[in-house]
Amino acid sequence: MKILVLNAGSSSHKSCLFDLTQSSAASLAPEPVWRAALDWTHAAGQVELTAQNQAGESIKEALPMTDKAEGLAAMLNTLVQGPTQVLGDLSEIAVVGHRVVHGGRDYMDSVRIDGQVKAAIRRLIPLAPAHNPANLQGIEAMEQILGNLPQVAVFDTAFHARMPEAASTYPGPYHWVEQGIRRYGFHGISHQYVAQRAAHLVGQDLAQLKILTCHLGNGCSLAAVKDGMGVDTTMGFTPLDGLMMGSRSGSVDPGILIHLIRQEGYSADQLDELLNKQSGLKGISGLSNDMRLVVEAMEQGHPQAKLAIDLFIHRLRREMGGLIASLGGLDVLVFTAGIGENSPLVWRRACAGFEFLGLQLNAEDLKRAKEDQDIAAPNSAVRVLVIHTQEEWAIAQACVTLLQPVA
Ligand code: ADP
Repeated sequence: MKILVLNAGSSSHKSCLFDLTQSSAASLAPEPVWRAALDWTHAAGQVELTAQNQAGESIKEALPMTDKAEGLAAMLNTLVQGPTQVLGDLSEIAVVGHRVVHGGRDYMDSVRIDGQVKAAIRRLIPLAPAHNPANLQGIEAMEQILGNLPQVAVFDTAFHARMPEAASTYPGPYHWVEQGIRRYGFHGISHQYVAQRAAHLVGQDLAQLKILTCHLGNGCSLAAVKDGMGVDTTMGFTPLDGLMMGSRSGSVDPGILIHLIRQEGYSADQLDELLNKQSGLKGISGLSNDMRLVVEAMEQGHPQAKLAIDLFIHRLRREMGGLIASLGGLDVLVFTAGIGENSPLVWRRACAGFEFLGLQLNAEDLKRAKEDQDIAAPNSAVRVLVIHTQEEWAIAQACVTLLQPVA
């Protein structure tokens, strides 16, 4: 079975093709046979198309176009033509899986896309104005290009949709509940995948474990996983809540916003820019949203870079503590995404507050590895795992599950 996965954003499209006839061990993510991306920020009036296949052939070209559907058609063309060709015909694709950012309260699981699902994604645009329109456009472009093929929506909010009310409700006026102003949580595809992988790696049933998953990339969030479900998370109504991130502030006193509006006349757009793009590691260090550059500057004695890292770690540990309380204990701690998969400094400093739980890191060997790894000491009461997140593979697996005939 050939599964196309599409992650459609407002300024980029990423796609890959899995060929399941080639895969062996079901719990390990196979390499996609083809990958491609469109970057719409490359130059005005152009899109940069890159593609590569498993045989190592690749292309990179700038195409004079601004229409997203046209760009997607050009991207899919590299599946069937030119050096990156891996298919004889696009009709070999059995299903397309889409990452859809917001599924609201309606979708707790992945779903086969039909008119109703598209209407729901459209209805939820006010909750995800930057993402859901792009996701919908991707779905409709695939309908145009591939015809009446099964398509599946995998929602980034779904894993958190069963959170208890006390975790998902904001203590504002009650009508917020009716208006849908609540904690939705994001990065759910990643949190779910790494939690399942963690259970597999420790050889226990997911439903029996208390797991804290730390997705630390440009965006950062934590999820508390108990009885196999997401029971708490740090991102909220929007992906701005919770941890300090690359260029996002995470939680700040909402009174600061009232102050900025009243005293300095900030508009909604200015606040949006300030909190989403000019804050976090970038805002405090004054240098970059890239953790590697901020760590480098700290090591060279840059005081704001040091404050940025200290703050990142402080916020992380504080929220970890909160979610461990929501779990009522901790069996497994997981680090994933760009920072989580690669930074021994973050592993060491994040774990430093939790020895009282019997958590002990392996003193010997804290190095990045290619494979998923357990970095806890053998006698640690908590396993600490570094797991490469595989969101695309998780989307492909959801497609397989939904397409299986009901027994
Ligand atoms: P996104 O959320 O955009 O998918 P990623 O998961 O790729 O982002 O994470 C990007 C972050 O990971 C950046 O802050 C980058 O500096 C960080 N990162 C990548 N490699 C390393 C590394 N070796 N050490 C520390 N941080 C790293």
